[in-house]
Amino acid sequence: MIQFTEEQRHRLAELGAEAAGLDAAFEDAAQRNRAFQQWESRLVAGQQQRLEQWCAERRRPFILELEERLAVALRAEGFLQMHTPLIISRARLEKMGVFSGSIMEKQVFWLDDRRCLRPMLAPNLYECMRELGRLRPRPLRLFEVGPCFRRETQGQRHANEFTMLNLVEMGVPEGEDLRERLLRWGRLVLDTAGIAGWRMVGEESSVYGETDDFVDANGMELASSAVGPHPLDAPWGIMENWVGIGFGLERLCMAATGESNMARAGRSLAYINGIRLHL
Ligand code: ATP
Ligand code: MG
Repeated sequence: MIQFTEEQRHRLAELGAEAAGLDAAFEDAAQRNRAFQQWESRLVAGQQQRLEQWCAERRRPFILELEERLAVALRAEGFLQMHTPLIISRARLEKMGVFSGSIMEKQVFWLDDRRCLRPMLAPNLYECMRELGRLRPRPLRLFEVGPCFRRETQGQRHANEFTMLNLVEMGVPEGEDLRERLLRWGRLVLDTAGIAGWRMVGEESSVYGETDDFVDANGMELASSAVGPHPLDAPWGIMENWVGIGFGLERLCMAATGESNMARAGRSLAYINGIRLHL
């Protein structure tokens, strides 16, 4: 018995074939190649149909739709939307505890000695918390959604450029359970994204120490959270309690649509809205 060639498997997978069928066995090459051609043309037809429908109806990638939906939902709860620089200084990253030689530092795309592409939104949001914190009453609710960059092995769940949604609430009324607060904002985002079956689990973070993560039904990390007062707060001049959550938008897309690969959810030249362009 023989199986699909690597090339055939790859082609079928990029067209969105169900993983289970890829391990089928055949008597000989002729039978296998016939099966491949039939399956490939069905998948191509399916992709063409999806493209047709997308051009007629939605006309923009799901991730952009989701970004807007989440921003609307957060603003409706009083969160103020920030829009901060993609390029940040080494000094700012060091204030996050990301020093030369650390694991995180190696994941950073450095532009020169002093500047890098932001690997996270937290340093800029800390700044916003302090500045707006001087001007606005409590609780102060902020969020930003935008690109982040990390040099890591790309795979099904990691890209070098991805979109983070980071929300923070500072000055939570005394006596409130901060974990309940995290759950409230986590639920708002995950429900708005239409994700079912998620849960909150304890995790170890290299930046924040002990944290709570939100994971989807398959155990994929969707977000990490942190609460303050936190040892990192002092250098930023923050001396209040706060809760914060950072979500990966591409991961939210994957969980919401059942898509198994990040390449189809994020920025791409090979796919539009998860539809393969090489048809
Ligand atoms: P992981 O352990 O999955 O690599 P992380 O814990 O390093 O993620 P965080 O720093 O907690 O990531 O970032 C917050 C969220 O941003 C993650 O929960 C995830 O959804 C998303 N994220 C982080 N790194 C990437 C990446 N390289 N590509 C896509 N999304 C990412
Ligand atoms: Mg994490």
